[in-house]
Amino acid sequence: MTNGIDEKVRGAYEEVLRRSTGEVEFHQAVREVLESLGPVLAKYPEFREGKIIERICEPERQIIFRVPWQDDRGEVQINRGFRVQYNSALGPYKGGLRFHPSVYLGIVKFLGFEQIFKNALTGLPIGGGKGGSDFDPKGKSDSEVMRFCQSFMTELMRYIGEYTDVPAGDIGVGGREIGYMFGQYKRLTSRYEAGVLTGKGLGYGGSLVRTEATGYGTTYFVREMLAVRKDSFEGKTCIVSGSGNVAIYTIEKIHELGGKVVACSDSNGVIHDEKGIDLDLVKRLKERERRRIKDYTDYRKHAKYVAGGNIWDIPCQVAMPSATQNEINGKDAATLVKNGCIAVGEGANMPTTPEGVKIFLASGIAYGPGKAANAGGVATSALEMQQNASRDSWTFEHTEQRLAEIMKNIHRNCWETAEEFGAKGNYVVGANIAGFIRVAKAMVAHGLI
Ligand code: GLU
Repeated sequence: MTNGIDEKVRGAYEEVLRRSTGEVEFHQAVREVLESLGPVLAKYPEFREGKIIERICEPERQIIFRVPWQDDRGEVQINRGFRVQYNSALGPYKGGLRFHPSVYLGIVKFLGFEQIFKNALTGLPIGGGKGGSDFDPKGKSDSEVMRFCQSFMTELMRYIGEYTDVPAGDIGVGGREIGYMFGQYKRLTSRYEAGVLTGKGLGYGGSLVRTEATGYGTTYFVREMLAVRKDSFEGKTCIVSGSGNVAIYTIEKIHELGGKVVACSDSNGVIHDEKGIDLDLVKRLKERERRRIKDYTDYRKHAKYVAGGNIWDIPCQVAMPSATQNEINGKDAATLVKNGCIAVGEGANMPTTPEGVKIFLASGIAYGPGKAANAGGVATSALEMQQNASRDSWTFEHTEQRLAEIMKNIHRNCWETAEEFGAKGNYVVGANIAGFIRVAKAMVAHGLI
């Protein structure tokens, strides 16, 4: 189980396996980072002496709680709530909340672990954390969602705050949910503490560009990877899986940069529109009417819908997985490469399995892992925190400019770090090492805590 891992980090990984039985996504996320870190320990013996890796793998605090609420028929429902406060070396814990039936401790820990390094890469003062619930917002009424969010926040409020822990959205948590949670936090604390949550509405402390930020940022990252190869999005056929917030704004930016997105999806099936995805229609179906992507073909008759289809079988030059973890397996990765894909930018967190990652890296295509490529979302959350702290609100242009600069810097940092550690062009190694070193140095400075 531990073969292929440098002996300097093997002990840390064995401890993770022993302490977190069955949390397979968490094991996967840890292993992928540790596999990059052998050369770092050789260069920085103080990290080894301080057992920085062992400490980083163990969350600072894990909170699990009951979330009782009543549905529209008056029936009592019980869900489970989580917040994993993973690492606060660089700032208050920061990371989203995911509401999805698949959520359990292993998912929250994998996301929280990734978040530490992602947040470090942004260069902004944010630690790493993640939370959520196995609540499924799909098919629920607005008032059911509100009652759930109020109950969830009634417990979560004890653990968060603008200097402590600042949650935001993730899968199943968007502007509506953040609004209900902010309202309940304000009511329970009698404080208008804008900086306690990010992804807020524009009318009450939210930041322009936060909604678009993850998708735009991932697209900027891929633009940088293509630029290194003297290439661009112009005229490229692209595929963006998913049809939620990340997918929508990835499609928008790709179209702006001259690429053509021909397919998107949801958990039921795939839309293939050779004329290019009609983004206004996707926004209407998914953002405003909360419908399934299947309904796309009611309005665009030439487009094809394949129930249960595999989006990665459709040929493309650029692939942007923007749905969920492990959505690209080894076979999918091989198909993409064989069909002429030259760049992959991960808008989702850990969307490629370890077998898939190996195939992308071996093929020499430009592969941008999520913790670097999709950091624009959380980076813009940090910009929202800056605006809240100074009671200011910036223009769209200024905020987008900051986001674009941050993504450029992340790309450069990953590129240069990979080169420094003898893995030129490998953004996995670059992102893991660059993120890790920033956190590790702060941990050393803080002493044994
Ligand atoms: N859930 C997003 C992510 O995976 C954003 C987190 C945030 O803005 O705090 O990075």
